[in-house]
Amino acid sequence: MSNPRPSPLGPATLAIHGQRQRDAFGSPHMPIYDTTTFAYPDTATLLQVTEGRRQGPLYSRYGQNPTLYALEETLAALEDAEAAWAFSSGMAAISTLFLTHGRRGIACLGEVYGGTLSLLEQQLPTLGIDTHLLLDGHDPEALERLLEAGVGLVYLETPTNPTLRLIDIEAVAEQAHRHGALVAVDGTFATPINQRPLALGADIVVHSATKYLGGHSDLTAGAVMGSVERLAPLWRWRQNLGTALSPQLASLLSRSLRTLPLRMQRHNTSAQTIAEALLEHPAIARVLYPGLPSHPGHALAHHQMCGFSGMLTLELKGGRDAAARMADQLTLFALAPSLGGAESLVTQPCTTSHVDLSAEERARRGIGDGMLRLSVGLEDVDDLLADLHQALDMLETG
Ligand code: PLP
Repeated sequence: MSNPRPSPLGPATLAIHGQRQRDAFGSPHMPIYDTTTFAYPDTATLLQVTEGRRQGPLYSRYGQNPTLYALEETLAALEDAEAAWAFSSGMAAISTLFLTHGRRGIACLGEVYGGTLSLLEQQLPTLGIDTHLLLDGHDPEALERLLEAGVGLVYLETPTNPTLRLIDIEAVAEQAHRHGALVAVDGTFATPINQRPLALGADIVVHSATKYLGGHSDLTAGAVMGSVERLAPLWRWRQNLGTALSPQLASLLSRSLRTLPLRMQRHNTSAQTIAEALLEHPAIARVLYPGLPSHPGHALAHHQMCGFSGMLTLELKGGRDAAARMADQLTLFALAPSLGGAESLVTQPCTTSHVDLSAEERARRGIGDGMLRLSVGLEDVDDLLADLHQALDMLETG
């Protein structure tokens, strides 16, 4: 697969050694600096810090805390980015990004997370920010018109939720850059282990670290990665919106990142195994997974990803009712929104993430009411398959 990592160190090494700085005691894992402020010996030294002439922690809400610095170094290393900022949630990262870089207008390509969509459709326009939703993904002509009109930020997710469509990051970046626009990619579903948008030409990557990066369904966090130049203006917004991550959660997230490459390997292989095993099942109309040759974006997935992640979507032949009955019958897949944790989860998009859309609107977006989205966890894949098969058998007999 392409998209090789330019750094001489592999992702498993970077996940453990990405943090370059040590504290005064040489702690291999930066402890929690559970303090809101930091004292200096005299006003001259403090002035060096406040004027930015000397690096130092100052005030935790500003993100100036050694526990955050350590996390951000690892996040930047994993994404091969110059810099990373940690946020209190994925939505904190995304809203801060839009307020910083979206003021010349935002073109959003394809499906995006519901909170992001509501921000783009409802909230940002009330602040005078023009937002444009190109639901079909990368339509070069439609995007060209917006870029010619001066839109400054192109935003996308790939793979998308729940249909797992892919968008060609290189093609979007090439087109946007011709007009001086920036490209930001929400890489939550893929993680930096499976896809590195910056290497493909994107300017900024955002993550809901609540998902795979945290990986244990026990923390809410977000991250933005990119060049120092692109990230610098976000810093002041994060400071004044108060959207920086707390040191307690930064420490927990740092611990999670150490096992991210290992966990993603397992998510990738288990999801691939399940996708292939269910492909021919008589109760299933379609299995959507970028790692399947039958997936319409499979060739692109091979080009821009180096693993296909743990998210897959099934479409049941029996429609909405069959999907609901199957979800209720599963025992190892918990019926819950969210994704990316150690435990497997299942959701029916028409009753959760896309409940606010009419059935017609869902159909227009390719989201069937018979769909079930699986977040394949870290359990033994044979146990997960047995659980899926017993639920599918129940559909056939019941
Ligand atoms: N981006 C994606 C792709 C998501 O799935 C989510 C949440 O589900 C978010 C962003 C928002 O993340 P958070 O819940 O951490 O604010």
